[in-house]
Amino acid sequence: MKKSVFSGVRPTGRLHIGNYLGAGKNYVALQDEYDCVYCIVDLHALTTLEDTDKLQGNIYEALLDLLAAGLDPQKSVIFVQSHVPEINELFSLLSMVTPLSWLLRVPTFKEKARIHPQNVNYGLVGYPVLMAADILLYKADVVPVGEDQLPHLELTREIVRRFNEHFGETFPEPQAKLTNFPLVVGLDGKDKMSKSLGNHIELAATAEETAKKVMSAVTDPARRLRSDPGHPEVCNVFKLRRHFEAECMTQVETDCRDAKIGCVDCKRALAEAINRDLAPLRARRAELAADPKYVRQVMLDGAQRAQIIAKRTLNEVRSKMGLI
Ligand code: SF4
Repeated sequence: MKKSVFSGVRPTGRLHIGNYLGAGKNYVALQDEYDCVYCIVDLHALTTLEDTDKLQGNIYEALLDLLAAGLDPQKSVIFVQSHVPEINELFSLLSMVTPLSWLLRVPTFKEKARIHPQNVNYGLVGYPVLMAADILLYKADVVPVGEDQLPHLELTREIVRRFNEHFGETFPEPQAKLTNFPLVVGLDGKDKMSKSLGNHIELAATAEETAKKVMSAVTDPARRLRSDPGHPEVCNVFKLRRHFEAECMTQVETDCRDAKIGCVDCKRALAEAINRDLAPLRARRAELAADPKYVRQVMLDGAQRAQIIAKRTLNEVRSKMGLI
């Protein structure tokens, strides 16, 4: 029997190249090796109450991108978190076995409380319990994570140990599948690629929009003239090209250092490479966008399949906790 994987995607609307290189490609690759459950975590988006009026649109756009990137509803369960209401009950039941002190020490809680001091709500504190409920409702064996997410998964494992100790063996301790999520720096060359910082390129952007964005990218700041030797190790255009044209980067590196190529040529090449690489994804996305009935059906089917697993788990939990 295949092991199961769970992963959640926050519905921030259209995905960008950073999301794709960092997670989307990996999700697609895991589908053949594992039974994958992929969830668009809309309840998580409510913990900071941002853009709730856009939430439905954002969920739909994220789903379009994931399907276009290659998530296959025949292979994976793909659904929206709140469409399986059992999550709320498991969240509530797991909160009974989670000491508050565990939650208050979570670094991302402290960070979010600092950024949104006016909105330190109960849901924000309980966010890691909701994440645990997501994973445990589907009894996932494996969770793909980057190093920075390991503390969250460890908290889930602590909750599992505590629950199993009190109520008997119920949940597997999910294992981290440490994934080399490349940190994709944005076009500003400073911060991680992010929609909120506007330093991103949407997967669904047109070829022209992509080229325009790429031409605005920051390169080696020390290179003022075309004749100045470049430093590819500090250049984000170079890093981005490596994702899309790994095969020719040795030559690009040499040419940059010897000032044989200019940054404008380099950016043009990057834009072409991105557009070439994403052309099939974009074509598929356009097909999906023209068939909203199919996309809605994927959501519906995914929720039904997820709910079968969720109900089974919840019945077991209720029974173990003496509720039935
Ligand atoms: Fe960066 Fe390319 Fe310019 Fe070199 S030539 S600094 S790699 S954009």
